[in-house]
Amino acid sequence: MHCGLCLNACPTYRELGVEMDSPRGRIYQMVQVAEGKPISESYREHIDLCLACRGCESACPSGVQYGRLVEAARAEIEVKVKRPWLERKVRDFVFRRLLPSPGLLTAAGAMLYVYQISGLQRVLRLTGLLNAFGALGAKEALAPSAQIPFFFRQIGQTFPAECDRKYRVAMMAGCIANVSFARLNEATVRVLQKNGCEVSIPIGQTCCGALHVHAGIREEARRLAKQNIDAILKGGYDAVITNAAGCGSTLKEYGELLEHDPDYAVKARKFKSLMKDVTEFLASIELNREMGALDVSVTYQDSCHLAHGQKVRSAPRQLLRAIPGVKFREMPLSDVCCGSAGIYNVLHTSLAMDILAKKMTNVNLAKAQVIATANPGCMLQLDAGVRKWGKGERVAHVVELLDEAYSKRAEEKK
Ligand code: SF4
Ligand code: SF4
Repeated sequence: MHCGLCLNACPTYRELGVEMDSPRGRIYQMVQVAEGKPISESYREHIDLCLACRGCESACPSGVQYGRLVEAARAEIEVKVKRPWLERKVRDFVFRRLLPSPGLLTAAGAMLYVYQISGLQRVLRLTGLLNAFGALGAKEALAPSAQIPFFFRQIGQTFPAECDRKYRVAMMAGCIANVSFARLNEATVRVLQKNGCEVSIPIGQTCCGALHVHAGIREEARRLAKQNIDAILKGGYDAVITNAAGCGSTLKEYGELLEHDPDYAVKARKFKSLMKDVTEFLASIELNREMGALDVSVTYQDSCHLAHGQKVRSAPRQLLRAIPGVKFREMPLSDVCCGSAGIYNVLHTSLAMDILAKKMTNVNLAKAQVIATANPGCMLQLDAGVRKWGKGERVAHVVELLDEAYSKRAEEKK
């Protein structure tokens, strides 16, 4: 099928106007390679430039599973193309050593924290000195913050349900999120507790492997998936929860990732059946409505891996509308990628920022005080967008707003 209905849904095509950077063009190139054409530098670039946002999947009337195609194409490139020495070393360190290691992430987080609180970051940003570093300066604007205490110390703990226990759930704490979204993870635990959940953060869990899958490093992703399955399944939980849509999309694909593994195929399908995005889970149960009013206008940016990857669109909106005082305002094209896409904004900063500029035009049209989303990566990207093109909006996860509404009610009752 060559209908082209996916073209307008593709941020890279909208930005570059190049057929080979559209879903249809990329599929055409994949078919050529499958038919024996050698992998060229240009093919690698067009596949690399894809955000893997899967907006094209939602637009395609023929049900083409583009996400799987691009992941397979990247895995083939990873195996067949030898990258330059430095790039190989950096990728090896980041994907195989840093992301799965709480120790290395803690060390990196501590260095980031010192950079932030020493005032160096503030000086560099205010004086524009970072611009002297060219591309590195632009990437710095996208750096996450380090939030101490890190969430790593909560791993292994169980938090009781408030009032009657209705569910026993496990929470995936992520990898970088333990350092950069520690407060979001804590808010997620509190909101689940408020909704009758006993929340465990099982020990032995690790990075979900989403960034590895997107980069084509599938063997390492499989190793991480097995570690998570071993850590979680034995707990016999009612559900496994994540607050990161990008992670959730991959965690829900463990079934496919391990479908040919004789020891893990069945366990992976079981794991997948338990996996829920936190907004999806909360919208599926009887929500605790004991909330204080927030009195803010809120718009919602769909995370690609929630809307297109997991087909979860109404749950976050339903939750936002359930908060007293929230005036919900849709923005145009809310399900078009913001340019974050895992570490895409770090690797392809210039194009990611062009995509973000368009996103901020639509954000500003909503005239909302808060931009809510459901993925930490999108929060970082939108934060950078607000600093550059925004009107002083606050960026928040849906769960953070729920947590504030519950806290406000608790304060009012005192
Ligand atoms: S995944 Fe996103 S960037 Fe890639 S082809 Fe599809 S719509 Fe375009
Ligand atoms: S991927 Fe789907 S929407 Fe895009 S050209 Fe092919 S059939 Fe049409």
